[in-house]
Amino acid sequence: MSQLDLFVIGGGSGGVACARRAASHGAKVALAEDSRLGGTCVIRGCVPKKLMHYGAGVPHELAVARDMGWSFGEVRHDFRGFLEARNREIARLEAIYRGMLDGAGVTVVKSRAKVACRQGDGFVVEAGGELFQTKRVLIATGAAPFFPDIPGIEHVVTSDQVLEDVYDLPARVAVIGAGYIGVELACIFQGFGAKTSLVLRGDQPLRGFDEDLRRHLTDQMAAGGLEILSRSVVKRIERTAGGLCLHGIEPALEADLVVYATGRRPIPKTHGIGLEELEVRMDHEGAILVDDTYKSSVDGLYAVGDCSDHAGCGVDSGQFDLTPVAIAEGRAIAERLFNDRVMPVRYDTLATAIFSSPEAATCGISEVRAHAEGYDVEIYKANFRPMRTTMGQHAHRIFMKLVVDRKTDRVLGCHMVGPEAGEIIQGFATAMTAGATKADFDDTIAVHPTAAEEFVTMYQPFKG
Ligand code: FAD
Repeated sequence: MSQLDLFVIGGGSGGVACARRAASHGAKVALAEDSRLGGTCVIRGCVPKKLMHYGAGVPHELAVARDMGWSFGEVRHDFRGFLEARNREIARLEAIYRGMLDGAGVTVVKSRAKVACRQGDGFVVEAGGELFQTKRVLIATGAAPFFPDIPGIEHVVTSDQVLEDVYDLPARVAVIGAGYIGVELACIFQGFGAKTSLVLRGDQPLRGFDEDLRRHLTDQMAAGGLEILSRSVVKRIERTAGGLCLHGIEPALEADLVVYATGRRPIPKTHGIGLEELEVRMDHEGAILVDDTYKSSVDGLYAVGDCSDHAGCGVDSGQFDLTPVAIAEGRAIAERLFNDRVMPVRYDTLATAIFSSPEAATCGISEVRAHAEGYDVEIYKANFRPMRTTMGQHAHRIFMKLVVDRKTDRVLGCHMVGPEAGEIIQGFATAMTAGATKADFDDTIAVHPTAAEEFVTMYQPFKG
């Protein structure tokens, strides 16, 4: 039986990051992956989605080009050819992941793994028909799409299938669910020319994000042609001669492809891999409860990324199911266990983007959350037309907002809707992580003319 310092179950963002970092500090590490290396992010998440976001944005670029005097003949798009090129890029990245693990000296087992039992202070893990004795185990098994059990649900697809199996552009698409994944997929299909409806239970998409950001993005997406059906609950899906009919919405909606993006849960991945037998504490969705060192209720067994719940760190973890978070957590474990170094993960100034059309991005907390946390805040807002589209007939408007702690002047939240919002917010996230105050923003000389400069030139607080 092999003797290891660490066995990692799951070759996605968190697992690979931890395995590589641990091996770089001399630990003897094995990693099991039962699908494709790279996990959700590389294979059926961030990467394919972002490539499709780029592809779907081209018609808009062509419209802007026309505004600027360019003319061209008939424009065609080879959807399948585009997706095949996307798949080649993903395969390239997957191979890079394999190369990085091999290069670091991590033993890769291409198989499902489970914790067979405890043995002394350590564990026995079973993978690929082999038993591995290991001092520690990291569970980094991710999460899987979750959808309600309603009649006709067998006709729908999830983001996994959209990003791996759909090769023909449907004429009509209905996306159910308005978290960031639903919003992004709806904008992608709409950008490629499908008549797309976003169906949501609440009033606006993106619950938990800043209210002004949500409102502005909703208006902009609607102005761009996306049908947003709020306060709508699908009760039944029926296959008819005309396609798929969604009942429960008035009037019933017809679509050729129905995508459910109603959340992701760890349970299918954390169930049946020996955790129940070890009495590892999990929540009702199967997320492994961890403390601020990512240790579960069982000594020597850790969890990171989408399969973990950081209630023990005082953090609302569902909000942080993101690749860079899983990576940071994985590295923090490796550093603490094998390099005696505490590497805190900064959740308070986490930045994230929604790759919608237009993009939205956010860093830190919303105005509502700031109030809930007891801050007395000053709000700064800007709403203006992007210079790039001023020469055409577009309804585009950029929105920016700062939430500032009146007492300390620290910027608590930075929110934006507009082109390249994801790229722009990254730099401000660094400033906020360094503790930037509104005065620091004001003292920063603007880069002119840009949209981003508005963040450092907002002068007057917003008076509601
Ligand atoms: P995963 O990356 O899911 O990796 C888990 C791996 O474990 C999988 O490869 C799985 O096959 C393997 N596994 C599971 N069980 C076993 C087992 N028993 N044995 C062996 N292997 C096993 N995040 C962002 O930051 N930016 C984005 O733009 C973004 N876009 C997204 C778009 C979509 C459509 C989705 C679904 C997610 C997106 N995310 C994004 C979230 C991001 O992909 C996840 O937060 C991240 O991948 C989590 O990493 P992880 O290591 O926890 O799990």
